[in-house]
Amino acid sequence: MAQMIVNGERVNAASGATMDVRNPATGEVVDTVPKADAADTRRAIDAAAAAFPEWSKTVGHKRAHILMQAAACVRERLDDVARLLTSEQGKPIRDSKIEAERFADNIEIYAGLIAGGALSGKHVPLPAQKAMGLVVRRPIGVVGAIIPWNFPLTLMANKIAPAMAVGNTVVVKPASTTPLATIRLAELMLEGGLPAGVLNIVTGPGAVVGDEIIRNPLVRKIGFTGETGTGKQVARSAADELKHVTLELGGSDAAIVCDDADLDLAAKNVAIGRFFNAGQACLAVKRVYVFDSIADEFIDRVVSRARRLKLGSGTDASAQMGPLHTEKQRAEIEAQLADAVQRGGTVVAGGQRPRGKEFERGYFFEPTVVVDVPEGARVWTEETFGPLLPIMRVKDLDEALRKANESEFGLGSSIFTRDMTKAQRAIDEIEAGYTWVNAVQIAHDELPFGGTKHSGYGKEHGTEVLDYYTEQKSVVVAA
Ligand code: NAD
Repeated sequence: MAQMIVNGERVNAASGATMDVRNPATGEVVDTVPKADAADTRRAIDAAAAAFPEWSKTVGHKRAHILMQAAACVRERLDDVARLLTSEQGKPIRDSKIEAERFADNIEIYAGLIAGGALSGKHVPLPAQKAMGLVVRRPIGVVGAIIPWNFPLTLMANKIAPAMAVGNTVVVKPASTTPLATIRLAELMLEGGLPAGVLNIVTGPGAVVGDEIIRNPLVRKIGFTGETGTGKQVARSAADELKHVTLELGGSDAAIVCDDADLDLAAKNVAIGRFFNAGQACLAVKRVYVFDSIADEFIDRVVSRARRLKLGSGTDASAQMGPLHTEKQRAEIEAQLADAVQRGGTVVAGGQRPRGKEFERGYFFEPTVVVDVPEGARVWTEETFGPLLPIMRVKDLDEALRKANESEFGLGSSIFTRDMTKAQRAIDEIEAGYTWVNAVQIAHDELPFGGTKHSGYGKEHGTEVLDYYTEQKSVVVAA
């Protein structure tokens, strides 16, 4: 049985309660983890609070050195971590390996930035008082990191890497269905020399463990990634203690394909953007608006890519797309597709559970493309969190931009065109935290990432994230 990490120790829930973790490709139990309650969670928060004074006062260069060594220990065991991630999440082993590597990358990136002095404040002359003004930046304190199941390791790294690098201590709550690789990473970081209490992992239900993290006054900052509905609840609960909150929530990213686009490039990037991680990504192409004059050619290309994708268990090295994460996820995608078809949409690729012995016990669903779906259908108004791509024909860029913005979400977006004036309009007019031009929808570590509208607020990645894990203090020094 895997155990939680509290104050550098492996611990169970005081009650002895446990939860099963299942393999999405087979439904089999992979392992069990403790099912913590509020008192267990408080112990982890107290440990993080006790570790904060020393960790925050450790000079940046030394902190960075410790984090680099912890990341090196992770790097030695990437294959173990990837195997665990595939067994609990379902994604192909190749993708799990990339995700585990990106975890280590992120720890190193923020350690490197801190070692290089990226956390500098500023000096402001104050001539009126003949005084010197300074702006200094301080860590906030205990950070609560609440993580979903779709990219458990990178979404954790996005929070804990900058948080720990600037001197905060952390309590992580992984999703109940994906705690195993997270626990393993924390064990490896401890083995690599991370001091006790700096990184704590508590497993248990969101409404219990997550709620305690959000309400406990010792936690000063919440980094949350998850559904928009949960995020709103987090913001409401965190308001009582006026906590700092970053919310990375749902999305329904529009991709616009113009009549002058490189159609092969557009089809390739749209297919990757929709079907990567079996479509279970926040940043993912979830709606396509294609100019009518080239729509047939473009749809043919996307359909042929969708049909070529090889489905399989994540442990099958040749699999390009694994199962959906849970039965509920698959049922949701099937319901959204049924709604689209019932309103008049036509399925042009996929649309079924794949047949065959290897698919019988897992939550597999074919890469699916649906066209001629009328406005108002669920695929246009809701987030589709699976391999389901609706494509709509539009007259021109004005119509495409209007439709792209007809969503409550504002996470990512993309445009495919050879005309920079069209690209410029997308950059200026699409209401989203990211616009890719002729590029695949991948979040880059170097660029700030975060949504607008109901996709949340605050930034992860880039140097900008450092502003969300520090507080600024003004200082006046009289001559
Ligand atoms: P979710 O909201 O169900 O759960 C996210 C986390 O919150 C889990 O750890 C869960 O246990 C916890 N939680 C649940 N209820 C809680 C409560 N009342 N208080 C505190 N914590 C609680 O989301 P999910 O289904 O795990 O993830 C999928 C969603 O996440 C999708 O909507 C997706 O778009 C979004 N997402 C967003 C981003 C982004 O960066 N914007 C990235 C990945 C996923």
